[in-house]
Amino acid sequence: MSINDELAARFLAASRMLELLGEDHFRVNALARAARAIESLPADAADLAKDRKALTAVPGIGAKSADKITEFIATGAIAEFDEIKARVPPGLLDLMELPGLGPKTVAVFWNQAGVTSLDDLKRIIDDGSILSLPRMGAKSVEKIRQAIAFGQSASHRTALGLALPLAEHIAARLAKVRGVTRTAFAGSARRAKDTVGDLDILAASSDPDAVTRAFLDLPQVLQVLQSGPGKSSVRLALDTASSRWGRGSSESTAAIQCDLRIVPPDRFGAALMYFTGSKEHNVRLRERARAAGLTLNEYGLFHAPADEASKPDWSRKDPIAAHTEHEVFKALGLPDIPPEIREDAGELDLAEAPRLLELGDIRAELHAHTTASDGRLDIESLAARAKERGFHTIAVTDHSRSSPQAGGLSPERLLQHIEDIRKAAERVPGITILAGSEVDILADGSLDYDDSLLEQLDVVVASPHAALSQDEDAATIRLLAAVRHPLVHILGHPTGRLINRRKGLEPRLREILDAAAENHVALEINAHWMRLDLRDIHARQAMNAGCLLAVDCDVHEPEDFDNLRFGVATARRGWVSKDRCVNAWAAPKLHEWLASKRPHRPH
Ligand SMILES: [Zn+2]
Ligand SMILES: [Zn+2]
Repeated sequence: MSINDELAARFLAASRMLELLGEDHFRVNALARAARAIESLPADAADLAKDRKALTAVPGIGAKSADKITEFIATGAIAEFDEIKARVPPGLLDLMELPGLGPKTVAVFWNQAGVTSLDDLKRIIDDGSILSLPRMGAKSVEKIRQAIAFGQSASHRTALGLALPLAEHIAARLAKVRGVTRTAFAGSARRAKDTVGDLDILAASSDPDAVTRAFLDLPQVLQVLQSGPGKSSVRLALDTASSRWGRGSSESTAAIQCDLRIVPPDRFGAALMYFTGSKEHNVRLRERARAAGLTLNEYGLFHAPADEASKPDWSRKDPIAAHTEHEVFKALGLPDIPPEIREDAGELDLAEAPRLLELGDIRAELHAHTTASDGRLDIESLAARAKERGFHTIAVTDHSRSSPQAGGLSPERLLQHIEDIRKAAERVPGITILAGSEVDILADGSLDYDDSLLEQLDVVVASPHAALSQDEDAATIRLLAAVRHPLVHILGHPTGRLINRRKGLEPRLREILDAAAENHVALEINAHWMRLDLRDIHARQAMNAGCLLAVDCDVHEPEDFDNLRFGVATARRGWVSKDRCVNAWAAPKLHEWLASKRPHRPH
């Protein structure tokens, strides 16, 4: 965590605690505003703080905030925040993290029912006394009950965005150990599922002791669960500070189990296949082998033993294929099946390997925020970053007016912003900069700007942000209206889910997909690893319904471009092909599609 992030997290947490304590709104808002300002500082706060004038010149940072920043840099603490924290029961900090429970609601539980922990909250739900509290009806209580259950079930699996970098890091690190000839990670991380249960690492080595020792000595190890010659298991610390949504709740320490298996080099492919899974895929593969008179297991593909009861030691028998996955697939009469689609969902019927979307296919980003709303980059630096990545097009899509917490633009500000984007486009050659907006889809399905204004935008991403616990009917009507709107190009993060945090909308998807296909509206796969929305199975349904898809990073800060890999992996899990992903189209085709929804505009 950078010092800016750490400071911002403390300001935000203090603001939430003050709100919980029922303190004056002005102070609550001032701290929240300062948190945002600190997050967007162009330089390290420690450097800025050397010049008090420069610090207080930053909009959102007043004299008091500047004092606190200086204090934190000098002492590593902020006394006033520590005093605030001492006034709040620690259990309430966790309660505020539950989806749908903010400081205001938690304050009511605390002040009027004496709730100071999750157990207290469960108790007043179970005995029904919660219903006597203000604004607590059967419906809202049911929502809280679900949030608690969801929070508990969700916490067992780790988001891909946290698990995958750790798996890669460990595989790369062990590859450098003496005697190691090959390493890989397997399991659901390799299949790029949106959440991962535990990590599986494989290593081929002539010196198993050395690689085991290196594994147990990893700095992330919290606890050794088991260690033997062929297999070791540990619990590893996860770095949860790297998410926009993680800030402010960074005090909880997260961990994930990680297994290391040491396998013979000549059996590496069979082991990798076996531990990559999925289980269902493996079952089907073994059936296929058996039908051909063969046996498949983690040691290789073998001629089946004549005697079923003989139970041979497979590690000593000569395999037909085992060295690489390719050899095993080939011996089974199969093409190379990409790990992302090994789910027993039709992949074993493929006659040849499918050409799925690849990271290098993406040439355009169509969903990005700037400092005009809640992004960290200005228009020109955003465009420069997109150009560096080899993109031919970048769309600037700041928030609309109904998202004031995200700095949404009034119609007047949007008009000015369009002008600013056009000017920036002249200053940054070599990339097309489009003027767009991420327009809120309001609860009833109407859009947040008038058509006359939308008409002036090159690209409209319509997204749901509020009212995300609507019932199925309301959600379906809402999203259908957006998809049928003639000026909309992309349905942004269609359900609004946040992994392990919020379930999001559950519309009748089939109806949305059919309407999207008919109206040539692209469904977004939001690449942020907390979203991955559409999720894999919905992306597959969208493909089958004939829809266009958009894989977008929803850029708020420069690092967000790096999330593209998670979006592409999710698209691959949904069998998305290059030709159906608008971000992979060449510029003329993309621009023609965008213009097709602006028939009255000369171009
Ligand atoms: Zn959004
Ligand atoms: Zn966005």
